[in-house]
Amino acid sequence: MAEIEHPKPFADWETRAYWEGCGRGEIVLQRCGACSKVQHRPRALCASCLSGDIEHFVASGRGQVYTFTVTLQNNAPGFREACPYVLAYVELEEGPRLLTNVVGCAPDAVSIGMPVVADFTAPDRDLAVPRFRPA
Ligand SMILES: [Zn+2]
Repeated sequence: MAEIEHPKPFADWETRAYWEGCGRGEIVLQRCGACSKVQHRPRALCASCLSGDIEHFVASGRGQVYTFTVTLQNNAPGFREACPYVLAYVELEEGPRLLTNVVGCAPDAVSIGMPVVADFTAPDRDLAVPRFRPA
């Protein structure tokens, strides 16, 4: 089973800090200075209170599988060869959920609530894609 070959992320002014963090092997999230809510995906404003007082911080990289499915068929280049693979929502310790992949174990070993840690497709590049492994 091959690894998924993700396309290079597209980073714009709202998402660049997130994708560059992944390139350093870090999950970078945003916290609102007004209401303290942690959010993902990256935005210019707090999605909870609309404040523009947003700061970035490095998250723990730890979370648990919130839900998942095993993808058996995907004809998109870069994904076809990796089937079957796990597509999952991982709930980070800080609260946000990421749509991601669980790698490093057989798909039938994944379960809801399973502790996972972040892993990255191409650390030491300028941009990378996060995925998760069993903790
Ligand atoms: Zn807020």
